[in-house]
Amino acid sequence: MISHLSPDTRAALERAAMPDFARWQRMVYATGGCAQPVRLHGERLTFNGATGEILDIYRTADEPTGFLLTACGNRRASRCPACSAVYKDDTYHLIISGLRGGKGVPEDVGGHPRVFATFTAPSFGAVHAHRTGRDGKTLPCRPRRDSPVCQHGRYEGCGRRHERDDPQVGQPLCVSCYDYQGAVLWNAHAGELWRRFTQALPSTLARLLGVRRAVLRETLRLSYAKVAEYQARGLVHFHAVIRLDGPDGPTSPPPDWATVPLLDEAIRQAAAQIVIPTSEKSPDGPPVVLLRWGDQIDVRPVYVSADLDGVSDQRVASYVAKYATKGAESAGTVDRRIHDVGDVTRLDVTEHARRMIFTCFALNRLPQYQGLPLRQWAHMLGYRGHFSTKSRHYSTTLGDLRQARADHRAEQARLILGLPERDDRETITVQDWRYAGSGHRHGEAFWADDARQRIATARKIAREREVNGTAAEECPPLRTGQAVMVEKPRDCEEESV
Ligand SMILES: [Zn+2]
Ligand SMILES: [Zn+2]
Ligand SMILES: [Zn+2]
Repeated sequence: MISHLSPDTRAALERAAMPDFARWQRMVYATGGCAQPVRLHGERLTFNGATGEILDIYRTADEPTGFLLTACGNRRASRCPACSAVYKDDTYHLIISGLRGGKGVPEDVGGHPRVFATFTAPSFGAVHAHRTGRDGKTLPCRPRRDSPVCQHGRYEGCGRRHERDDPQVGQPLCVSCYDYQGAVLWNAHAGELWRRFTQALPSTLARLLGVRRAVLRETLRLSYAKVAEYQARGLVHFHAVIRLDGPDGPTSPPPDWATVPLLDEAIRQAAAQIVIPTSEKSPDGPPVVLLRWGDQIDVRPVYVSADLDGVSDQRVASYVAKYATKGAESAGTVDRRIHDVGDVTRLDVTEHARRMIFTCFALNRLPQYQGLPLRQWAHMLGYRGHFSTKSRHYSTTLGDLRQARADHRAEQARLILGLPERDDRETITVQDWRYAGSGHRHGEAFWADDARQRIATARKIAREREVNGTAAEECPPLRTGQAVMVEKPRDCEEESV
């Protein structure tokens, strides 16, 4: 009968029949159903430092599996749905606590002026677009009555109505007219454009108010959290929550004159003044490309609940959290490095992405772009910045959120093992772990995904109960036993403003 099953199902059943399956499945639950977990060999010894009494010995050699599983911790949904879901949740809490308080941030922060701003790249050539009218109906892409053609004989207009998921969206009308060099160089400098913007914003505010920057610093502080997103045309753009606080950050009220319109004006002026030349100007050298933000900077106030002209804090937090788990793959490219230019022709990417990748490799050879690691970041279409960054005082940190989770798990494990309290200074733990491989083996991926889905369902039910006013129950306790999760630093960086 088993011969009628698909190879994957058969592999999953074979895995389930193995003697170590029950223990392995518990471990995979402890990783949240990670899609590419890391296997570790090693041991951990817990003893009383004063008496030398050994309280607990854990060795992977004693495990039925022979190893311990830990989660990969990858933020990208395309790489690991389980770990990225955790990252998304954490990012949501990080953003929302900076908008309405919580996680150590006072609730008064909800009254501070703040906006949700979107910074976009300029145009590098016409691309097919999904456009909608006021009634929500899809409009023609680029209607032109006179049907003009470009110098390559291609139509400059397009009368089709592209739906949002149409693969044509974001693809150039004429690949020969499209400025691939400009697009790739813009991506390569997008992180620097953002950095210079954050530097320019406080001085622009000071100028608008007619005070010196040092004076402003005594009364006002700027906080932000930003996320990078790829548009269909392969260019990154940034979404940022930008907030005005008093001198001590979210715990202190901003002065009365710090308002949303002032912040809005300062953001637009600061962004407009930034220009980055791609190389030094020299009389016989190649022409210098000047990079700047596109004109379409969108700034909207953030309200606690949805408002006519603004956006709601929950929507902003969900939006940022969603994009924090995406990479360049949403622009039709691949989510890992390309080592050889010869591989580019074989990649399963859109033609537009392929041309951007080739342009990265081509520009990388030119002396004026030697300082840019375009080759290493070709799969990112030139962008090499962080996907999410925040200023130090925005709210809590992902590190603190992870630590709280790790502490909770350690406490559960301690109770299961009957070990002394963690703050007992006499208790000393020594551990030694070695890498023993990663990813799932024969028949395991099925069960890992099953675990991930069960955990996601349990979380969803718990969240719905919370919303409905019933006390949220803890997820069914997973007997994690002695499993530990190694949390790694991910793609979020702290910046100081
Ligand atoms: Zn993972
Ligand atoms: Zn079109
Ligand atoms: Zn053309």
